[in-house]
Amino acid sequence: MNERDSEAISAALEAGGLSATACENDADVLVFNTCSVRETAERKAVGKIGIMKKLKKDRPDLIIGVAGCMAQRMKDELFAKLPHIDFVAGTGQIHKIPEIINGIIGKREKIMNVGETSEDEKELLDGFGGHLYGDGKISALVSVMRGCNRFCSYCIVPYVRGTENSRPQEIVLREIRNLADQGIKEIILLGQNIAAYGLDNSMLGRKKSPFAELLGKIEDIDGILRVRFTSPHPAYFSDDLINAVVSLPKVCKNVHLPMQSGSDNILKKMNRPYTSAEYLAIVENLRKGAPEMTFSTDVIVGFPGETEEDFLQTRDLMNKVAFDNAFIFKYSPREGTKAANFADDVPKTAKEERNQILLKDLALRAEKHNKAMLGSLVEVLVEGPSKRNSEKWCGRTGTNKVVIFEPDGKISTGDILELKISRATSMSLYA
Ligand code: SF4
Repeated sequence: MNERDSEAISAALEAGGLSATACENDADVLVFNTCSVRETAERKAVGKIGIMKKLKKDRPDLIIGVAGCMAQRMKDELFAKLPHIDFVAGTGQIHKIPEIINGIIGKREKIMNVGETSEDEKELLDGFGGHLYGDGKISALVSVMRGCNRFCSYCIVPYVRGTENSRPQEIVLREIRNLADQGIKEIILLGQNIAAYGLDNSMLGRKKSPFAELLGKIEDIDGILRVRFTSPHPAYFSDDLINAVVSLPKVCKNVHLPMQSGSDNILKKMNRPYTSAEYLAIVENLRKGAPEMTFSTDVIVGFPGETEEDFLQTRDLMNKVAFDNAFIFKYSPREGTKAANFADDVPKTAKEERNQILLKDLALRAEKHNKAMLGSLVEVLVEGPSKRNSEKWCGRTGTNKVVIFEPDGKISTGDILELKISRATSMSLYA
């Protein structure tokens, strides 16, 4: 989501006549788009912006701004902590950044804008979909909703991103049609609680999932070959959404389904309203419709009160689902959330140990899954030269596996190729 917001800020600044520099030392304007999900992310951002003090001293005309979740959470506290910054723009105000910068150029006053998105601003936000193209770009991030109503007990997002706010279907579709006209082949739909898309406005009470309906309409857009989305909350993964994911050919057969814990007891304390059995049922139904389906997830180990038995239930559910990938976090309290009031009673050593056990399981499983693909034919969307070795190219399967291969000179970014897997590691496939 932040990556998409950063792109939209860049596109708006470019439209206003600025151009990107390769190095921060050459810039006249520096915008730091920040994340608040973990305390370490905030600490790193404050450290990095702090280093810019010297730059500002050497060049007093330099404009430095802080945007995003940390800006929303800390507001004017940031001016006290980082006196050399010029503006603070909250999560609902990123479309105002060009205007804020112009204001600073005119008056050289510090500006803070962290207000809620008002109705007319919402209209602006809906239209604030600027994208950057070039360099053979074939994938585009499209934000379909902002905010979250779930208030999981450990999470800061609803406090800094606000409540759910879906963009109208027609505006999303128009943006995707424009992207297709620019040569984009793959769309990655974004939303903090994306399976709840459309449930916050006039579509409320409809029997069919508005998100499933959106996927169905994107399917009809010429030029778009693949659609991915992240992140759906399991409690909103309805039967018609399962049906859409398995039956629509353009929707990739890979689902990132945040699980967080395999213990019903811990899920309850996390305010995640599903059980491990319900979670597994979603996975099984998706696999029933599309046996090739792969899964990734988010897991927290060492949540307050997590016993060895709770942890083993998490390990067991991860093994049953047989995830190909997972983001595993060691719990740390986030100030301002409900769970910050719980006793952080799982020792650091136990958190580390549980983290390592799950990472090891994951690596072994990924290698096994990848080795099982040796000799098989896979369809990949070509992404271009590999970052590690420009003589090789890479592509991605619909199940989100990266495949490295040797190009034959006729291949272009965005092509769909059928490749035979000749080597496999836990991280990559070679063809
Ligand atoms: S659903 Fe996701 S974004 Fe929303 S509160 Fe829970 S963890 Fe945070």
